[in-house]
Amino acid sequence: MKPANYLEIKNKIPSNVNILAVSKGFKSQEIKTIQNLGQNDFGESKFQEAFEKQQILKDLKQINWHFIGRIQSNKIRKIVQNFKYIHSVDSFEKLQKISNISHEEEKNPLILLQVKLSDDPTKGGFDPKFLKLKWGEIQELKNIKLTGLMTINPKGLSSKENSELFKKCRALADSLQLPDCSMGMSGDWKEAIDAGSTWLRLGSLIFGGRF
Ligand SMILES: *Cc1c(COP(=O)(O)O)cnc(C)c1O
Repeated sequence: MKPANYLEIKNKIPSNVNILAVSKGFKSQEIKTIQNLGQNDFGESKFQEAFEKQQILKDLKQINWHFIGRIQSNKIRKIVQNFKYIHSVDSFEKLQKISNISHEEEKNPLILLQVKLSDDPTKGGFDPKFLKLKWGEIQELKNIKLTGLMTINPKGLSSKENSELFKKCRALADSLQLPDCSMGMSGDWKEAIDAGSTWLRLGSLIFGGRF
């Protein structure tokens, strides 16, 4: 890993856009190195892998942990207990369960709802029409703070196609008066910034390749 990457990238990103350093596949020591450079938001996609690193790094209280992976219903309690943000809430049933468990645990996680903006069969998420239909009901749920939407673009799109999907996400978030859009990864972060991303989820760009 070249920690220099991090500062180089940070300098290219407008200060109103947050970097989520996606540390899945990287060790706690590598998280520490990046944290030392001033990065406090880290994203993980598998609960068990994340939890092991959280135990090792528990003295670094400044770290905000973000869950960005597919949520298994039987892991919701553990995710609620150990993560400040959950970006990948992809169904109303899971959102309800997060709300109920957060209430029991006296937690108040920040929530981004994953939206499905193209017919990529490998990605889940709320259908935008369904989301609008359910919006009143969603806003009634207790013990969650809805801050935005999250989207993952299919692989292999052109820059223009990536931009169009990101703009759809931004427009949908605006229509629901949600401030955040978690969008843009190592290959499409520039398009995401132009479209109004507030959270870039960057893994390999910061940490290098995964092995
Ligand atoms: C792994 C992952 C990322 C980061 O991917 P890179 O291409 O390494 O930047 C972003 N978002 C999600 C949901 C991921 O699983």
